[in-house]
Amino acid sequence: MARAGDAIVSRPSFGWPILLVTTEVGFHIARPMRCLASLLTALLLFALAGDAAGAPVALEKLERVAIEGQTYVRVRDWAAAAGLAFAWVQPRHSVRLTNSKLTLQLTHDSKLLAANGINLWLSYPAKVRDDRCYVSLVDLKTTLAPLATPVRNRSRMALVAIDPGHGGRDRGFYSGSRFEKTYTLLLAQELKTQLARAGIKATLVRSTDEYVDLTERADRAASRKANLLVSLHYNAAGSGNAEAQGAETFVMTPVGARSTNAQGGGGNTGPSPGNLYNDPSLMLGYLIQRSLVRNLALSDRGVRRARWEVLREAKIPAVLVEGGFMSHARESQRIYDPVFRRKQAKAIADAIVSYKMIMDP
Ligand SMILES: [Zn+2]
Repeated sequence: MARAGDAIVSRPSFGWPILLVTTEVGFHIARPMRCLASLLTALLLFALAGDAAGAPVALEKLERVAIEGQTYVRVRDWAAAAGLAFAWVQPRHSVRLTNSKLTLQLTHDSKLLAANGINLWLSYPAKVRDDRCYVSLVDLKTTLAPLATPVRNRSRMALVAIDPGHGGRDRGFYSGSRFEKTYTLLLAQELKTQLARAGIKATLVRSTDEYVDLTERADRAASRKANLLVSLHYNAAGSGNAEAQGAETFVMTPVGARSTNAQGGGGNTGPSPGNLYNDPSLMLGYLIQRSLVRNLALSDRGVRRARWEVLREAKIPAVLVEGGFMSHARESQRIYDPVFRRKQAKAIADAIVSYKMIMDP
């Protein structure tokens, strides 16, 4: 039971505590045996999780309807049970749900959820039918509920593993002689410094220009007993999309659902260890995205879902940050600038501090 650990949480019963005070300043193929072992572990952890977690709102009691082959729930019913006020923003088009800490906005036929103005990508679009607004049960469980009624972790966050994307022979994206692996490491080092200032210990998954296999990244975090994993990357768009810019924060795709990015599918959609930590990971992803958008004025490309290996295999809450586009003329200059890098590291550190306040027992 205790193994299931850090993120399989105690019961909620509070809204967002100290939360937004002002902190916002803010494939590698595994060997078959290993594959089987991790599948069994995932199944076991799932059984334990189901038993231990318990949803703040009894979602199974909500009336379900089938829309386009998915199970949906009436938004108003859930809002009432979760203590959020429900209002139409635009009749038969968009709705707003509010409590003292949070405003959620859903729009008909859109997969975008706005949470206090920050974008989060849902797995399925919200729907309006017969003057009623519906959201898929998967999205309710994995995105709306973890934000509106967060459940504290069982143990305190004591060590953050920072994973600088790529390294060694894997250069990541590159633009001329500029390699992504260089800037992810610089950002990671700065983030460690900023976290230390906030009294939070951190360890780097790699601290030199070293090649680290994708599976090993989550393993290193686990072996050092970290209880949070933040993987750092920079983005690049294909030629013909030189205008793409902004921040994205990735969280593991819910079981059975489709990833936000076509290439983020990552094979099977069944349970992986990373799915166990959806709720705290989603909270962290939201807080980091919010901090990057508000503090650095980066364009908001949203909290997204993908089965990136580092997220899939993480046995602790984990997110992957795409801190900007190296393919964008102006944004790349910010990425290469040490002053911007310090601000970016501070923005991520602030979000981790907020996460700790909201999620620590
Ligand atoms: Zn990358």
